[in-house]
Amino acid sequence: MQFTDFSLDQRLLQSIKHMGITEPTAIQEQALPIALAGKDLMASSKTGSGKTLAFLLPALQRVISTRSLSKRDPRVLILLPTRELAHQVYSQLRLLVANTQYKAISVLGGENFNDQAKALAKEPHFIVATPGRIADHLEQKHLFLNGLELLVLDEADRMLDLGFAPQLKAINDAADHKRRQTLMFSATLDHDEINDIAATLLKNPAHVAIGAAHSEHNDIHQRIFLCDHLDHKEALLARLLKDETHKQVIIFTATRPDTERLAAKLTAQGFATAALSGDLKQAARNQIMDQFARGQQQVLVTTDVASRGLDLLNVSLVVNFDMPKFAEEYVHRIGRTGRAGAKGDAISLVGPKDWDNFKKVQVFLRKTFEISTIPGLEAKFSGLKSKAKQTPTKRVAKAELAKGKSKRTKAATPAPSRDKRFITGVDIGDAPMRKKPAAAKLLQDNDTEEV
Ligand code: ADP
Ligand code: MG
Repeated sequence: MQFTDFSLDQRLLQSIKHMGITEPTAIQEQALPIALAGKDLMASSKTGSGKTLAFLLPALQRVISTRSLSKRDPRVLILLPTRELAHQVYSQLRLLVANTQYKAISVLGGENFNDQAKALAKEPHFIVATPGRIADHLEQKHLFLNGLELLVLDEADRMLDLGFAPQLKAINDAADHKRRQTLMFSATLDHDEINDIAATLLKNPAHVAIGAAHSEHNDIHQRIFLCDHLDHKEALLARLLKDETHKQVIIFTATRPDTERLAAKLTAQGFATAALSGDLKQAARNQIMDQFARGQQQVLVTTDVASRGLDLLNVSLVVNFDMPKFAEEYVHRIGRTGRAGAKGDAISLVGPKDWDNFKKVQVFLRKTFEISTIPGLEAKFSGLKSKAKQTPTKRVAKAELAKGKSKRTKAATPAPSRDKRFITGVDIGDAPMRKKPAAAKLLQDNDTEEV
């Protein structure tokens, strides 16, 4: 199948050609006809499979080929969970609108609110945004969505994890009319909370799923190493980075302070390394991402702030220095490599404190990993046998439930990985490998955009 088989405007076909893209990917082939027909859609496919164009092309086509519902209101609103991802999608959108008379802006948390209000007053046709900031502008009446024709939620499940359900509902209410179309995308869309919000936001949606969230990503070679303690993890990491050749590397840690600490160690070992976390000011975040994207740093140590969506073609290795709290994030983290048909490596370091999370990943992926070893660096730790005692996070989750703060319903099918994620505003994070100084905040980076 070719892009020319879809009824796409000549200018869009030209832009695609300029991007060097020839054939649609499977998700594009399936999603485009539905989205172009104006239908609501819930779509999932593996990381790096081209979901962005699967919503950007129909968005552009809709604006180009139909009359606007309102002269002033934005026609398309694209929401993403993190500023970095929103920035990336905005850059791609700008390439596509460059060929047209339409205006696109981005409205992200952490940027100047008044400047955004001014940009909104200029009546852009497309807005790419993080949900919290858009909800703020709605409240301030800098923006009206009565004329919104298309709402796109990319990485929709992550927006819910971050506690943005109220903002999404507010945005939905502000754009609640018959002619609005809604598209939802992620690599992991098959769970309860998503169905709840989808029932509110989407009208008789079509469902497209290319493979299941748990299906093997054949382009990513995954390895697991067991570790005894923090020093052991660091020794394994140092050895792996030294012995293997990788273009660029992303390393995920459990907490924000850990990103700085590990980056300092790697820098001392001679790797050009940067640390990125939600603690940093937005300008610093932008600069770090920019430098990494240009290849000025070889290693990026980060938290789940960077687990979703980022498309960095030179990343050939992803390391889970700590296992993620939620099994889905494992899929997204390793998906920062092996994109668009390229091959990549993923290494996970599993110590006693990671064991529960590692088991959840195995359950989620329906897979039992073989354990890799490096001679001389074998672990004494071989897994925890009995069912681990309840973690503090679980207790908080239960307390929240008891207080009725979450309305999560019982899963129709077991979703073992998602038992903690509906806590909003509380994030006590996972225990790192070793005690940190009391002053260090053990905050899991939940990349809340307004932080
Ligand atoms: P996803 O959102 O599914 O993780 P992206 O939309 O970020 O994936 O796309 C991943 C990469 O694939 C990007 O670099 C993008 O430019 C590229 N890409 C998208 N569509 C195609 C295509 N049809 N053919 C080749 N490469 C593509
Ligand atoms: Mg994406």
